Amino acid sequence: MTDQSGKPKEVIFTKRGSEPQLSFQKYYGEENYVPVVKSNEKSTPYFVGRRWQDLWEAEGGVARYDDEVLALVVDSQERQVPLFFGPVAEQRIKFKSPEAASEHIKKKSIEFGASDVGITELIPTDLYQGCETRERYAIALALPMRYPEFKVTPSPAAGLEAVRSYHECGEVAIKLSQHIRSLGYTCEVDTPMGDGRFVQVPIAERAGLGALGRHGSLMHPTLGPNFRLIIVVTSIPMAVDSLREGGVAKLCDSCKACRRYCPADAIPDHRSPEAGKDSFGNDRYVVDTGKCYPYMKKDYSCGACVAACIYHRKQWARDYDGAPIMEYPDVPMGRRLHDEPLPPFDSVPEEEKHFYPRVNRGQPKKYWPSNMNLDGTLKKQTK
Ligand code: SF4
Ligand code: SF4
Repeated sequence: MTDQSGKPKEVIFTKRGSEPQLSFQKYYGEENYVPVVKSNEKSTPYFVGRRWQDLWEAEGGVARYDDEVLALVVDSQERQVPLFFGPVAEQRIKFKSPEAASEHIKKKSIEFGASDVGITELIPTDLYQGCETRERYAIALALPMRYPEFKVTPSPAAGLEAVRSYHECGEVAIKLSQHIRSLGYTCEVDTPMGDGRFVQVPIAERAGLGALGRHGSLMHPTLGPNFRLIIVVTSIPMAVDSLREGGVAKLCDSCKACRRYCPADAIPDHRSPEAGKDSFGNDRYVVDTGKCYPYMKKDYSCGACVAACIYHRKQWARDYDGAPIMEYPDVPMGRRLHDEPLPPFDSVPEEEKHFYPRVNRGQPKKYWPSNMNLDGTLKKQTK
């Protein structure tokens, strides 16, 4: 591998020594990759994205794209990704100290649109198998999603908001990476949509952006779980951040809102000591992705666990028992959006499905999409 002047470049972290059991390429087929930026001797070789439609269909799912979603996905892969690359300024700006560099990068990240930013040093397990990087520091950027779009989930609005926030992450990362290169430092941006190379959650956890919740999503101390991440890695030596736990473990141990709400019964009752510790030394809650993912891929994604999570409303979590003061999402549980039969793994007893919170369940479906019947089927189009 060479740098931009053609000189050999050190690869700092690589997992090439251990070949993946089953690579995405072998699994999905080479043709399902979008060769927006092909590997060459001047860039770290990796595929930058795979068509979501191909991915979902390859797994037996149903890819549903509204025009707006499709436009964002295409724009991300065809316009944004090439902008993650560019020439590095020959003159390098020297920072007074790693602390000064860190402060500068954080200030610029917020200026470019991130809601929060954390910095950590990469460790080899931050990369997926078969991936590599030549950078040492990771900048984790957090951008919030709009909560109202998740008041009905799965729904076209929730699916669009998830993609919109990924796209927004891409915009912030473009600005930050261009700025880093203008300072005379190299950097790499993880793809917001498609195949990422970096395992985002542990990176962001170590960068002080929160702790893992029972639902398997990171909980930010003020954004809650309703946000998206993007990772930029760079050669700028920076001071790293400390962990921020924010009381997540204690809260999750006494709350099961997401577990009750999950339509796929994928969220566990208990922690799994055999699954290893999180960054704070706690046993992990292990979400059953074998149940979650098949549910998600049938429709417009899901995210009911994130929408239902009380952490981002923790100031009134005392009303868990039912005070009708807050809006919760409506999850079309027990039925599918498109007349498809229930998956067999939905084993939550019928009487428990709407247990939490009942407060918004008996009321008119204020946020029901206009193109959907109350039983979850799509309305017939009338011309
Ligand atoms: S995304 Fe949906 S199916 Fe998956 S764990 Fe969350 S609530 Fe359950
Ligand atoms: S809903 Fe409750 S248990 Fe689930 S992640 Fe949020 S705080 Fe933790």
